[in-house]
Amino acid sequence: MITEERPMLSVVVPIFNEEDVLPLFAERLRPILDSSGHSYEVIAVDDGSHDSTPILLNRLARSWPQVRVLRLRANAGHQAALSAGLTRATGSYVVSIDADLQDPPELIPDMLTAARQEAADVVYAVRVDRSTDTRFKRSTAGGFYRVMARISDNSGPIGAADFRLMSRATVDAVNSLPERHRVLRLIVPALGFPSTTVTYRRAERAAGHTKYPLSAMLRLTLDSITGFSVIPLRLATWSGLLSGAVAALLLLYAVGSFAVGRTVSGWASTFAVVAGVGAVQLLCLGLLGEYVGRMYSQMQGRPAYFVAYDSAHPDGPMDWDHDPAMRASPVGSPNT
Ligand code: UDP
Ligand code: MG
Repeated sequence: MITEERPMLSVVVPIFNEEDVLPLFAERLRPILDSSGHSYEVIAVDDGSHDSTPILLNRLARSWPQVRVLRLRANAGHQAALSAGLTRATGSYVVSIDADLQDPPELIPDMLTAARQEAADVVYAVRVDRSTDTRFKRSTAGGFYRVMARISDNSGPIGAADFRLMSRATVDAVNSLPERHRVLRLIVPALGFPSTTVTYRRAERAAGHTKYPLSAMLRLTLDSITGFSVIPLRLATWSGLLSGAVAALLLLYAVGSFAVGRTVSGWASTFAVVAGVGAVQLLCLGLLGEYVGRMYSQMQGRPAYFVAYDSAHPDGPMDWDHDPAMRASPVGSPNT
């Protein structure tokens, strides 16, 4: 049951094939929220799971009235699932949390207290210890945050991912953004709302295995870079200029050698240069393609996700009109 009044807290949980961990997660989350003394809702976004997650979620919603289940038609990805939850969260504060218990739900009351005491609109949960993540995960994540801090003017605290609390105003601002390829951990800090942090130890996944394969991490990285910086495009210009300068020098050398009667020796060096320049050109084209591709999909205006079922409106019709993701706009800018 979703009360008409705005709950104090909405908890948005993106869930993809989490049958192993979901019961454990619910068992740990519920007592914390029930004893918090605040009204709340849990928005469980099933991101197109094809294991028994949908059945478990329906069961959960029957026994836990504050749970609202939102099912996406197909796997739309972690960020899109989060966005779908954020557009429906009605709370005065909204927490987003992973379902695998790597983010401890016990921290939620502390985040709420921090927001109110420090009058902060955003509370980032920052991981101070990631020793339970694999070495590969830590080093790639470390690289990601360092690169993002370098190339975007306004990145959030290092080590903060998607476990965060946001005020109503922040969530409204996020929901109003027209971007399709959203990377919330970069968008939220860029909005510039007053923020604070709480720290926690990253726990091990309670059950199941990661839903973030290398390809998903790469996609997130590309979305982050292209969404927040045009530096790679400038890089293309600089590397073009550099290889142009090197080519000019080589030409001078070749002409000079010809003039003094020495033939340029070796085809290997020539071949290496041609191949090198070709590689730089392809790289630049590829970089350009990343931006053009995103512009194209933004112009198409297709929503980042389709909702198949919403337990708040079980008999449908689907609330397309109320879903900003479905709203048409002149340049086709869905809200997710
Ligand atoms: N997730 C999702 N859609 C996806 C991939 C992941 O909703 O396509 C959810 C997943 O169920 C979990 C959260 O996003 O609740 C974080 O995923 P995961 O724990 O697998 O990522 P990791 O912690 O390994 O980076
Ligand atoms: Mg995880």
